Amino acid sequence: MTVICMSSGHGKYIRGASGYLDEGNCARAVVEETARLLRKAGVETKTYHDDSSHSQDENLNRIVNWHNGQTRTLDVSVHFNAYQTTTAAMGTECLYLTQKDLAKKVADGIARVTMLPNRGPKYRDNLFFLKSTAMPSVLVEVVFVDSLTDADVYTEEFPSVCAALASALSGKKIQADDEPTPEPLPVEPPPVVEIPEEEPGRQTIGMGDSGEDVVYVQTLLGVFPADGEFGTITDAAVRGYQAAYGEGVACDGIIGPKTWAALDYLEHAKASGNDRLPADQARRIAELAGKSKIASYAWKDRGVLPKGYTSGIAQCFGLAATRLMQGHAIATTAAQADRNAPDTDALSWYREKFLAEDMDNTQDGIDTLRHLFVLLLGLGARESSGRYCEGRDMSASNVTADTAEASMYQTSWNIRSCSSSIPPLLNEYWANPNGFLPTFQNGVKLKGDELANYGSGDGAKFQFLSKYSPSFHCFVTGVGLRYLRQHWGPINRKEVEIKREADEMLLDVQHLLSEDAAENPNAMA
Ligand SMILES: [Zn+2]
Repeated sequence: MTVICMSSGHGKYIRGASGYLDEGNCARAVVEETARLLRKAGVETKTYHDDSSHSQDENLNRIVNWHNGQTRTLDVSVHFNAYQTTTAAMGTECLYLTQKDLAKKVADGIARVTMLPNRGPKYRDNLFFLKSTAMPSVLVEVVFVDSLTDADVYTEEFPSVCAALASALSGKKIQADDEPTPEPLPVEPPPVVEIPEEEPGRQTIGMGDSGEDVVYVQTLLGVFPADGEFGTITDAAVRGYQAAYGEGVACDGIIGPKTWAALDYLEHAKASGNDRLPADQARRIAELAGKSKIASYAWKDRGVLPKGYTSGIAQCFGLAATRLMQGHAIATTAAQADRNAPDTDALSWYREKFLAEDMDNTQDGIDTLRHLFVLLLGLGARESSGRYCEGRDMSASNVTADTAEASMYQTSWNIRSCSSSIPPLLNEYWANPNGFLPTFQNGVKLKGDELANYGSGDGAKFQFLSKYSPSFHCFVTGVGLRYLRQHWGPINRKEVEIKREADEMLLDVQHLLSEDAAENPNAMA
């Protein structure tokens, strides 16, 4: 027997889009009127509106938890779309993960009565509602709140829109009736918040929004593809940055004036610096690494890693080697000879394995540094399959700023106390967060809420930079391996593969650097 559960998108305090229509109020009205028509036609229907959540997360979870707590056969979420203020007709679409046919019926049905554009069924694999509700589900975007035509037609045709939705959901022919349209549920206006004057074009945006502002935020935060749709991944990236930025910015995934200002900081920080290697040199290193044998090696239990991983680590090594020549503390610390301390130094712990591949670490300097990067290449394969964007280990319960793991090595900020060369890196990279991100993105697909960060303060900054500036994460881990090797399970269990082909590739990087230096001895600034 069909039992339909319907909820309105957003909530009393977590407001949806607004324009000529208010999304939250309209969604409530559509849910209640559609449910009334369904019940009248003998279809059991339950409805829900969130009147209590104060954060985006809480709101999404509360709605999904309500659905999953019901006995039902179908979950429906009612939203209204928004893009940009226009008089043009925009129309209806229906989002789905598995229910393409039903989504098509819903969009067709509503578009038939409104005569507005039928945007059809749209596959979306990143919407929390569609992913988290346990029964078949659809999310309907009735019309656009910021289209004058849509708003007029919707207001005029409200009874038939609801009848069309009821028909599509139930498979029965349901007509609008003469009952007076129910008064929309009393929705108290959200508490009045003093919003400082916004620059034009910088509207408050959040989950479910779309358009050029979203593309800008996605591009800045490293969310790709930057498709202009504010979904789960973008929401996590925004919250992750809000946590890292701190300064009283709420970690709610909503981009209002304070978060816009925080994003300005990131944009300026990025523009103020570069990846710390000449761009052309970094490009040649990535190319060389991409063609190497190790780039196509199938790692044990992990297979071939994303293209950008090998190239990115090669660039990190290029930067580390450059810093070694410059006498930078992070590089000289990492490049020390085997410390004869198997309990703390991974190079001592792995001595036999290195020697089996003819890698000798008895001298301070570039050879030892290179062999450390051989270990780093193998460690990233074990810890994350070479994914720079990996969030904390969900099988563990490390949710504090200090203990939450991040990025390709799953290192956490409590590593910092092992060497005085680590803490200064945090400030350096916060001021200039360029760290070969575009290289590491190559071949990787973002998923879920992995860009979210945990806790606040420096630990949250550490998690953010680990995923946003992979070379930062690589350097912290490189030094960490020399003083606190027990931080990483795969190191302790000696699961990391030491590959001669990795050493050969890194040696080629080293040669490229010395040729560049010979050609242009003053370039090492
Ligand atoms: Zn919405």
